[in-house]
Amino acid sequence: MTGGGLPSRMRAAVWRGPGRPLTVEELPTPQVEEPEDVVLRVRAAMFGAALVRAVTVGHPRLSPPAVLGTLVVGDVVDTGSAVRHLKPDQRVTLDPHPPCGHCANCRDGLRALCDTRISISPGAHAQYVRIRPPVATHARTVPPELSAGAALLTEIVACVLDATDTSGIGPGQDVLVIGCGPVGLIQVQLARLRGARRVFCSVNHPGRRELVDRAGGIPVDAQDLSADHLAVLTAGRGPHVVVEAVGSATTYACAFDVVRDGGTVIGFGGCPPGTTVPLDVNAVHYRRIRFIGSYHYEPGVFEKAARLLETGQVDLEPLLTHRIPLDRIADAVTTARRSDCLVPIIEP
Ligand SMILES: [Zn+2]
Repeated sequence: MTGGGLPSRMRAAVWRGPGRPLTVEELPTPQVEEPEDVVLRVRAAMFGAALVRAVTVGHPRLSPPAVLGTLVVGDVVDTGSAVRHLKPDQRVTLDPHPPCGHCANCRDGLRALCDTRISISPGAHAQYVRIRPPVATHARTVPPELSAGAALLTEIVACVLDATDTSGIGPGQDVLVIGCGPVGLIQVQLARLRGARRVFCSVNHPGRRELVDRAGGIPVDAQDLSADHLAVLTAGRGPHVVVEAVGSATTYACAFDVVRDGGTVIGFGGCPPGTTVPLDVNAVHYRRIRFIGSYHYEPGVFEKAARLLETGQVDLEPLLTHRIPLDRIADAVTTARRSDCLVPIIEP
């Protein structure tokens, strides 16, 4: 044990390159080194689609060997001498990429696109993780009634909330969400919360219909996403807002096709670099269609998302489908790709 009462060694999952299995190894436990450092005992860490891609094909910002994982909920176990806002045993969730406030994009007011991309390093697929400002500064306490798994999704809810606010979804509107993954299902709930009249959500396998129902949406078979069918469902007009939450050229093209005149298409799904979509710009012009790319979120949205969870306005429990012990993280890619898997969580 060290001065902070932490063991000197811990178990952590090490990524040794694209396509290679994650291996659980013994590494030195991160310690408080600077006055503003905080060490957390990890309770839940995300293994979402972005990590599956990173582990299998690599990521421009990641170099092996590395401990991955940026979304984490943990209990405070040690703090530096200057930390006033956190105390041992408090459970916290983290905004994984708070803006730096001084890069060119931050100075332009585009804090969602902060160039610095400050993050947790080494990552959270471990028993312990050390955080520093600004991540440590923005750590948010998790109330006891909220599960660690639900708190872990605060960042994703914040991304969807930013898209919802940007889209102008409001009372009485018809909304189509393309995609029934975690983002799509959270989007259905937030659109309903904003007062949308009908929220259609495309489903590509039967197991998701019940989840769409439970989120307050109306499932639509993904094969039926034609302008004609959506017109039938919306009194001949098409949805006011279409949220693309898949990330493919086909579904982006579909979004422009089915949206009503004067409607809004939200580009939430991330496509591979170089993806292009044939776009009838004549229709975009004469039908006054708005297209808004939505990525990450502006300052303050993470806190708003946390309040939605803390007050029970968004229910994430149905999305928490799979828990994977850290020691079995080698199975995580296979588990994450199962059709019944929505959110896979690593638990040390
Ligand atoms: Zn910045």
